[in-house]
Amino acid sequence: MQFDAELWRFRARERHNKLSKKSRWKANVRLHRDLSAIGGIERVVEWCNQHQVGLIFTKVQLAQYDRTTKIISVSGDAAYETQLFSLLHECGHHLHDKSLLKKKRIRNVIAEKKVEQDKRPTKLTDRVDVIAEEFEAWTRGRKLAERLGIYINDARCKADMSWCLIRYFKWSSY
Ligand SMILES: [Zn+2]
Repeated sequence: MQFDAELWRFRARERHNKLSKKSRWKANVRLHRDLSAIGGIERVVEWCNQHQVGLIFTKVQLAQYDRTTKIISVSGDAAYETQLFSLLHECGHHLHDKSLLKKKRIRNVIAEKKVEQDKRPTKLTDRVDVIAEEFEAWTRGRKLAERLGIYINDARCKADMSWCLIRYFKWSSY
């Protein structure tokens, strides 16, 4: 599925109408957050187009960057703010790759990282590299948001980031 700002906004408003029946105040807070996130997604999508980075919104609850095809996939069903955070993080992977290529230091050990046991490197140092790269991609994603003038809620972004990183910690240590 391709990103369609109008469809995203339409869905956010539909949701707002439903939530309004329970709590108008909560629904309004949510709508404000959703519309702000959708505006942010729009800017990142534009950035991806300018930088030849492909983008797919899927129904799968998984975000990833495929470094061989340069395609980012993000869950289109996730909360709008989560979509924005994941999208920025995956762009962070792209930017990190680009800087490694510039320095000609790209590692081919971890061609595609997935939080799956069969893809887990045997060497502890390689696993640590994966985790370091995850941190790096989050930092680069935040910097990109800053450059593009996108508002990011620190606490909620940190919560999403922590959730993702903890999965990598567990993956690397069991
Ligand atoms: Zn990542």
